[in-house]
Amino acid sequence: MRRIEQRPPPPSTLTDSEALAARRAIAEFLDLPDEQRESRRAPINEKIFHNEPVREALNQLFAGKCGYCETTRAGPMVVEQHRPTSNAGGSRKRMPHYYSWLAYDWENLILVCQACSQRKRNQFPVRGARAPVMAPLARVRAQETPQLLDPGYDRPERHLDFTLDGMCHARSKRGGSTIGTLDLNRMDLVEERRAAYQQLQYRIGDGHDLRAVIEALTELDANEAPFVGSMRILRYRLLSAIAERVSHFSFSFEDAQHLIESVLGEAREDDVTAALRTLDRPERAAEAAATPASPAALPFTPQIRRILVENFRVIDRIEINMEAIKRESSSAAALMLLGENATGKSTVLEAITLALVGADKADTLAKARDVEPDARRGGHRGPHGPTRVLIEFHEGPPAELFVGPDGKFDGTREPRGNVLAYGSRRYFKAGRRIRSRTGGPKGLFDPSWTLPHPDLWLEDLGPDRFPEIARALAEILSLPPPPAAFLKQDERGVYIVEGELETPLSRHSEGYRSIFATAVDMLRGLMGGVDVLDAQGVVLIDEVETHLHPRWKMLVVSALRKALPRVQFILTTHDPLCLRGMGPGEVQVMMRDPTNRIGLAPDLPDVSGMRIDQILTSEHFGMQSTLDPDFQALFDRYHALLRESRDKPEVAGEIDSLRKRINERQRLGQTERERLMLEAIDRHLATRVAAGPVREQQDAALEAQIDDIWSEATVEAE
Ligand SMILES: [Zn+2]
Repeated sequence: MRRIEQRPPPPSTLTDSEALAARRAIAEFLDLPDEQRESRRAPINEKIFHNEPVREALNQLFAGKCGYCETTRAGPMVVEQHRPTSNAGGSRKRMPHYYSWLAYDWENLILVCQACSQRKRNQFPVRGARAPVMAPLARVRAQETPQLLDPGYDRPERHLDFTLDGMCHARSKRGGSTIGTLDLNRMDLVEERRAAYQQLQYRIGDGHDLRAVIEALTELDANEAPFVGSMRILRYRLLSAIAERVSHFSFSFEDAQHLIESVLGEAREDDVTAALRTLDRPERAAEAAATPASPAALPFTPQIRRILVENFRVIDRIEINMEAIKRESSSAAALMLLGENATGKSTVLEAITLALVGADKADTLAKARDVEPDARRGGHRGPHGPTRVLIEFHEGPPAELFVGPDGKFDGTREPRGNVLAYGSRRYFKAGRRIRSRTGGPKGLFDPSWTLPHPDLWLEDLGPDRFPEIARALAEILSLPPPPAAFLKQDERGVYIVEGELETPLSRHSEGYRSIFATAVDMLRGLMGGVDVLDAQGVVLIDEVETHLHPRWKMLVVSALRKALPRVQFILTTHDPLCLRGMGPGEVQVMMRDPTNRIGLAPDLPDVSGMRIDQILTSEHFGMQSTLDPDFQALFDRYHALLRESRDKPEVAGEIDSLRKRINERQRLGQTERERLMLEAIDRHLATRVAAGPVREQQDAALEAQIDDIWSEATVEAE
């Protein structure tokens, strides 16, 4: 950790009118009556800090390195708040909205690597009392004693020590908590540090060439040097040890920078080598143990990096790479498998699930012999290799699954993290109020499995933990923003409150109840010692569009990701409406080739910037023209500003910039011609057959029709 001395002024996105409105929204939210506030998450507008100017400014400030561990390697860096935006006290402490009001505070933003981010999450324990809600950061800092060190405020050298073997040691209790919480002695990080320290050691050598030593130590003034924060601590210790041998004068950490020449000027070779040897051990032995700051130590589930499925039922070979996070957001990366029926989408989900739960559990879910390819079941013809599923993670060893010679699953035996999987049939028996356990991965494999009835479990939760689930459910169900709607529980059951209207869940449609039951089961399976907002794991859902109203199809993926930002979702669909909310590289189209082998379509366009009608035309799906939710938000803001601009000239600049952003993203106009083409595609999709010569005729007819529409419209335009 390197101390950040002084920050340049904040990027304008943190202070412009949109940011001011976002701050006001949080202040108003925190002012709501308890019942409404506790059952909703604070309305954090991620766009204020997840943008290029903020990222670039932090990149400069932290020299492209993680603010906590100084690595450059552990995946793409994310912009995060040092004081988290929610659940800082752990969910049981009932501080769901600490420190939402610091979400857009420049001094609270930090560049963090994936490894640190996934370990820290929203943990932020403090010793003693917390500052009051809405207190400005300077006051919060002065008033609190947090367990986690802040590179923008604390002096790392007082709390952390390092040794040449790459290990990090605690000098204080707070140092110990920081090491424990962020796992600063994780294996790959220690290796990286050791390699950097060896470079320094090599340059110091036997101390014979004092100029080289001075040069090596002076270079540590540059913030770009690898692990320079920890190296400065080593430099200080080295110089202090030399000074003690030659003249016994002491100096402060900051002075070390200026005293290199004078200290070394008096030193001999053996002073340098003797001083270097002291860096093999921590300065003070075991000052404080490295302990996680939170008593509810969080189970850590690494994120999937690569999926390889070979010779698994109808699948010949499928390879998918996944990023750790969605670009420009705090959500985990997701995967959407798109394809028509019988392209093996469910099979891929089954393969991934079986590998993740480990070979022992896999044997209880499926028969190993059944997953081996078989020509009679549509598996590829001709000789095939052994069945193999390989899941690699962004950290740690991979999970592998084979079929052993005894006809049972073999490979990685232990489960890798928390895995929940749902088949395309997601029902529960309405009248059956039986206490049952959550299904885990069972729903994907057992068609007769029904979802547990949600009401009893919600009743059992009690008033202490219900708000945590209510907050997550409000996001999954895409309830209107607070204070308009929230979930409420009393002796009569669970209600959705919207204004004056209280609707018991039992009075909603069956489709709604099914989604509700699935969401509750998911949250139940992910709930642990901390708020579900921090839960990690993998959730697989086959045919996510089932039971969904079109409006919900367009919202479902974004809603799930927002509700559970650290969960990796692997979903399948044949409905392009569900592609909204997916980022670059997150959609894969499965297809059957002419030889009946199943694989992935190559070179797909990125759907994230596209309007839905563009997705539809590009992939030959059909639906009415609609806007993607992020883009819709731009529009909404634009229209809201236009409405209020009559009496507020100060928003004119923002209106201009919004108009520009909207124009940039709108690649095609919403013309009559486009609408006619989409209608034709719609009709085509409704009537087409799966494959064969009739399908070819239909496809040809559609093409001719589109040609007609195109040329007619051109004539009209002329
Ligand atoms: Zn880090």
